Amino acid sequence: NYILEIKDLHASISDIPILKGVNLSIKPGEIHAIMGPNGSGKSTLSKLIAGHPAYSLLSGDILFYGKSILQMEPDERARAGIFLAFQYPVEIPGVSNADFLRIALNARRKFKKLPELSPLEFFQLITEKIDLVGMKESFLTRNVNEGFSGGEKKRNEILQMALLDSNLSILDETDSGLDIDALRIIAQGINTLATPTNSIVLITHYQRLLDYIIPDFVHIMSDGKIVKTGNVSLAQDLEKHGYDWIKGT
Ligand code: ADP
Ligand code: MG
Ligand code: MG
Repeated sequence: NYILEIKDLHASISDIPILKGVNLSIKPGEIHAIMGPNGSGKSTLSKLIAGHPAYSLLSGDILFYGKSILQMEPDERARAGIFLAFQYPVEIPGVSNADFLRIALNARRKFKKLPELSPLEFFQLITEKIDLVGMKESFLTRNVNEGFSGGEKKRNEILQMALLDSNLSILDETDSGLDIDALRIIAQGINTLATPTNSIVLITHYQRLLDYIIPDFVHIMSDGKIVKTGNVSLAQDLEKHGYDWIKGT
């Protein structure tokens, strides 16, 4: 009974091998942190789970609730409950944030065999959720991410995550570029979303996010593999000794 199982995953981009045998199993209710130096393959792993087309999966498998998702399109994976918050969120000109969120939510509801929400019902729901991330209502009428500050984009991702009620949420460097207040608000939002039935993967280069969100497991990625797994003290050791320390252990 795992939400996610990654089995001996090898993948490349432009014929360059990036992932060299990743194994990872995640149960409902768990929070996993994936840390590692720049270029170790963390974002590649998250994009493969989400089904990003630029990456070639060479061998291995990705199971979601025991079933391989390799044949599923990215949007199918999202509807099924896999959520990826991007390291660099895209701007979508001409589409209001509210419309974007409502379309995403209704697609997810359709998958869960729930009726669509009307614009009014949606508005009632979203106004509850925006408080969670400390966002202003005016963000809803603005175009998706257009002119949003780094912190606002991150809040918007957490809002999206709260709304979609995904089973597996992957947050890739959600903490990058945030000041300490924004970090605290985002972390609170993420903690509120951690339930016994869903799982969260936090990808982060730094340990500071883990002062606010305590993961059940910390994995260190290096050169396309998970080279070490431990609890939160592993992140603290890493902070103390730097990534070179991993090579010597
Ligand atoms: P991380 O998120 O851990 O910093 P990435 O998954 O982004 O690492 O990158 C892993 C490796 O893949 C790096 O060596 C990076 O240079 C390479 N890489 C990523 N994207 C591309 C690309 N589009 N073309 C060629 N190499 C890439
Ligand atoms: Mg837990
Ligand atoms: Mg990355």
